[in-house]
Amino acid sequence: MSSIDSVLKENRLFPPSDDFRVKANVSGMEGYNALCEQANGDYEGFWANLGRELVSWNKPFTKVLNDSNAPFFKWFEDGKLNISYNCIDRHLDARGDKTAIIFEADDGKSEHVSYRQLHARVCQFANGLKLLGVTKGDRVVVYMPHTVEAVVAMQACARIGAIHSVVFGGFSAGALRDRIQDAQAKIVITANEGFRGGKPVPLKATVDEAVAMEGSESIEKVIVLRRLENSSAAFNDARDVWWHELVEGQPTQCEPEWVDAEHPLFILYTSGSTGKPKGIQHSTGGYLLGALTTMKWVFDYREGDIYWCTADVGWITGHSYVAYGPLAIGATQVVFEGVPTFPDAGRFWQMIEKHKVTTFYTAPTAIRSLIKLGGDLPKQYDLSSLRLLGTVGEPINPEAWIWYHEVVGGGRCPIVDTWWQTETGANMIAPLPGAVATKPGSCTLPIPGIIADIVDEAGAPVEPGKGGFLVVRKPWPSMVRTIWNDPERFKKTYFPEDFNGQLYLAGDSAHFDENGYIWIMGRVDDVLNVSGHRLGTMEIESALVANPLVAEAAVVGKPHEIKGESVCAFVVLKGARPEGDDAKRIAKELREWVAHEIGKIAMPDEIRFGDNLPKTRSGKIMRRLLRDIAKGQEITQDTSTLENPAILEQLAKSAI
Ligand code: ATP
Ligand code: MG
Repeated sequence: MSSIDSVLKENRLFPPSDDFRVKANVSGMEGYNALCEQANGDYEGFWANLGRELVSWNKPFTKVLNDSNAPFFKWFEDGKLNISYNCIDRHLDARGDKTAIIFEADDGKSEHVSYRQLHARVCQFANGLKLLGVTKGDRVVVYMPHTVEAVVAMQACARIGAIHSVVFGGFSAGALRDRIQDAQAKIVITANEGFRGGKPVPLKATVDEAVAMEGSESIEKVIVLRRLENSSAAFNDARDVWWHELVEGQPTQCEPEWVDAEHPLFILYTSGSTGKPKGIQHSTGGYLLGALTTMKWVFDYREGDIYWCTADVGWITGHSYVAYGPLAIGATQVVFEGVPTFPDAGRFWQMIEKHKVTTFYTAPTAIRSLIKLGGDLPKQYDLSSLRLLGTVGEPINPEAWIWYHEVVGGGRCPIVDTWWQTETGANMIAPLPGAVATKPGSCTLPIPGIIADIVDEAGAPVEPGKGGFLVVRKPWPSMVRTIWNDPERFKKTYFPEDFNGQLYLAGDSAHFDENGYIWIMGRVDDVLNVSGHRLGTMEIESALVANPLVAEAAVVGKPHEIKGESVCAFVVLKGARPEGDDAKRIAKELREWVAHEIGKIAMPDEIRFGDNLPKTRSGKIMRRLLRDIAKGQEITQDTSTLENPAILEQLAKSAI
């Protein structure tokens, strides 16, 4: 491919304050560069030292990286450990009474769980799983509300060496069945109901439906948490087991199963933004090390922090930065069951005030929707406890970044824009907040030890300002080990022959700026080709979002006789969706705005307004569906991970 043109210019620079820098775990660019030099000098030694320093091993490793069967890499393969031991037991002496989890339910009630209490709950549940015949290597599907028990379920699986596969509690029976079948799971752990936005979510009913479907025959037992006293959910005595009955009388001790570092910890299916979800298989040792190094460097973890990652455990972010990372480092973290808009759009800010959150990590989609619903709301709360903000999931548009920085962070908190994927296991490209000056919209520099690069189709480096394929040149400890059941797809997708099987291909396009900062431009699948110029989606969308009227935008290409492709933009305004002449007038204004902001080449030929955009359940815009709509075609692609299918119909009729 020819390279991708970059049209967005964003030069605002935000260095860390002196105070932040001095106290940070990695202090100043000297600190960052020193780590990078260590990694460059002795790559394996660098990771081996971190592995010894941060992870507690039952049997220390002597081998570091095994690349003899590339790209099926192994890390620390002769070491033995247990991740639940690392997350809980090793803290008990020094921090047994420290709060591990502050749980806040959808209805606002909260509960504090200490490390000692968490240990007892995990052990009892792990003993219960054993009683049901679950052993090392068995697959267990977790389909739970985002509660303490979800974390307990994952930790308990890990404690006995069972492989969990968490399925987001909003997925349909069909999507759940597909994952049960692919993983050949023995057990489903669920709750009779979940709660989101004041309404019960009938989790058990969905499990019943999924387990009754063809393909779910592997399921032997369903464990049911009684989240709601009076639920109409059915209970099948032969198959279902109440959580509280299972753990009753179980010992509060359970010897961890010491597993090899390469033992699979979990399978997690990707969001499905670009196609059929992939069953990403992660290891135990390398994965844990990725979570720990990034907790320390990217989230700059310090004793006393109150950490809050808003992601559901159904996503990779909820694995690495809820279920494992914060516990492994001994933090106190908030786990929130509900949604950001219930009872109103001030919920996040109110909770930050209430729990004195220091470190807050959320997604651009949440930020954009909260700006739309109440850009001034944060000002009503005391957010002075915050010291660090983070984002993940999509590129954050510079205007949303500035709002987050000023209105939420009071201009005082660094923002870590963390680029990573289900496949990478941990943050990969992100500013270390006491070292790297940030720029709105850029995820900045790779984390030390991560050898990220941007190359053209021949695998050659691209010059600054030119877009290309984002790749990683060396294997890293927390990387995906394979796609469950599909090693061929693993090779083809991530280590394609186009690059001689040598580079990890992320599937995103990106460019370097003149300071060597990385800018994600969008998915490779979504790149537009307008009059010979290849354009990423992010820059045009960011230009649109910078207009005061616009809340969200998604841009796709539409076949065009002369230009090859024309730009079609789907736009959500902060106010009501315009119609008729209003829509025409605003569309014209926005087209001119884009032409003025980034140039005529990026000017949308067509603008369509909607109340919302099609998104995955984790809040990512699904442009592949919008492409069909722009072309006026029927949608025949996989929509099983779509959050709001009804929006497709509205957008299909939205041409003005
Ligand atoms: P699928 O692979 O099935 O299409 P997905 O890629 O949406 O699903 P995830 O692994 O949840 O599934 O998402 C990873 C992707 O999210 C990245 O490849 C990138 O496109 C996007 N992303 C995540 N964080 C950032 C970020 N900070 N900046 C830009 N993009 C990001
Ligand atoms: Mg992906």
